[in-house]
Amino acid sequence: MVSPLLLRHFLTRSRQFFAGKEIVSRDYGGLFRYDYGRFYERTARLANVLAGLGVGPGDRVGTLAWNNHRHLELYFAVPCSGAVLHTLNIRLFRDQLVYVINHAADRVIFVDEDLLPVLEDVAGELKTVEHFVVMTDRKECPATRLAPVHLYEDLLAGAAPDYAFPEDMEENSAAAMCYTTATTGDPKGVVYSHRGLYLHSLAFLMADTIGLSERDCMLPVVPMFHANAWGLPFSAALAGSRQVFPGSRPTPADLAGLIETEKVTVAAGVPTVWMGLLELLEREEHDLSSLRVVVCGGSAAPRALLEAYDRRGITIVHAYGMTETSPLATVSRPVSRMDDWPADRRYQVRAKQGWLVPGLEMRVVDDQGREAPRDGRAMGELWLKGPWVADGYYRDPERSRETFADGWLHTSDIVTVDTDGFIAIVDRSKDLIKSGGEWISSVDLENCIMSHPAVAEAAVIAVPHPKWVERPLACVVLKAAYRDQVDEAALLEFLAGKVIRWWLPDRVVFLDEIPKTSVGKFSKKRLRELLERGEI
Ligand code: AMP
Repeated sequence: MVSPLLLRHFLTRSRQFFAGKEIVSRDYGGLFRYDYGRFYERTARLANVLAGLGVGPGDRVGTLAWNNHRHLELYFAVPCSGAVLHTLNIRLFRDQLVYVINHAADRVIFVDEDLLPVLEDVAGELKTVEHFVVMTDRKECPATRLAPVHLYEDLLAGAAPDYAFPEDMEENSAAAMCYTTATTGDPKGVVYSHRGLYLHSLAFLMADTIGLSERDCMLPVVPMFHANAWGLPFSAALAGSRQVFPGSRPTPADLAGLIETEKVTVAAGVPTVWMGLLELLEREEHDLSSLRVVVCGGSAAPRALLEAYDRRGITIVHAYGMTETSPLATVSRPVSRMDDWPADRRYQVRAKQGWLVPGLEMRVVDDQGREAPRDGRAMGELWLKGPWVADGYYRDPERSRETFADGWLHTSDIVTVDTDGFIAIVDRSKDLIKSGGEWISSVDLENCIMSHPAVAEAAVIAVPHPKWVERPLACVVLKAAYRDQVDEAALLEFLAGKVIRWWLPDRVVFLDEIPKTSVGKFSKKRLRELLERGEI
């Protein structure tokens, strides 16, 4: 039969088979509990609300929200009624936030109560937004400058509880979108189709990836604004897993508490999250023995982290992907023939980014355009293709052409592939720093530093950081007339008004010159070597 792959199936299946299965959400007033049955009803009400607000097929609906049950309802009501869910990254620069909302032409924005100030700050510059909806468990709408503004719970209470989610939508139609930080210029939009998300969700259920099942209780710590929380809310609804949402600004203690009391079996987040939790576990006793798998990705999972969790009986599974790949692309689980390998060798495997998930195809291409040999040494750029890989950036033909060429996504990740087919990322050709799972554009920082009248040259590189994985280090050359007249504090103060606080370099070093490549570009490779040798 020809049957379109639509997210609607996840919704109706979960109502049919898992109506009594619990969904838990850390709300403003405490833990909120309900089940897939009531989730369905509220999602149907929400679909009616969207129609009432004038949202039609293909219209974009923005969300500026944490991981909570209302966000989950939006994850389904928006795409299943034919509109497009646009998750907004709460950590964007204000100008970037304005850009992505206007570029996507969001018609309605749903915003969590404690993120209202972020939106209020940009509201005057939004060209297409017709309504704002505040997500909170309060009975009254918090005071806000946003207009027209509605209260989520009021809208739901006033809406009909039935909705005929269309069955005949085109499976390649857009379901969701998410912007990703670019090396230079504005963020780039990635659109996910129903078909792509459907197949990506199935990939999460495979035994050799994460093997998410009905027996699992899933805790997405990875934000729902970052590549759909790695697709986990979709996969969990399909599998019928219990879902636990950590809410606004969860601390390591909040996470430990939720894992312990809700008996979470699968949790997912960036290394920084698991490092933070480990620090807590070193100070306090928590029984986290329910955890079957901790999915760790977004940045490289250090081997020491895998070992530390193993010592506590918790298995970290290292995964790799990109916003452009929905995001799951590889998972690093040792295969059967490695069963009798010594522990050290197995750790080496687990610390790699891993095996390509079934359904995707890859090439590793060297600078001459040739396929690199799979010997664990030869390096090349990883190219990917498959049903849940994007084929371009939203309304951005020029940058689409650069990244999506010859039918492949050129990832800019430089990898080796060993004889077992395991990928290891060895470098990144995109000029970005990943701090705590979120991007910092080194080019934007450099431009900002170079706008200081005393600065002749500036290059920003990533330095390893025990908590944030990477942090920016600024290498600066002052103009001759200003030598010794501007110090680190002055430069940081200058930047403070121009870039968001967590972008500020951890350290500024002053050099006589920035090393250059043969074609006169800043040689960041050389700077990294100097750093490694302790010379800067
Ligand atoms: P994003 O689109 O923000 O999810 O970032 C995707 C990029 O993050 C990839 O292209 C890699 O550079 C990096 N990344 C993601 N997962 C990993 C990982 N497991 N190890 C190393 N880098 C990773």
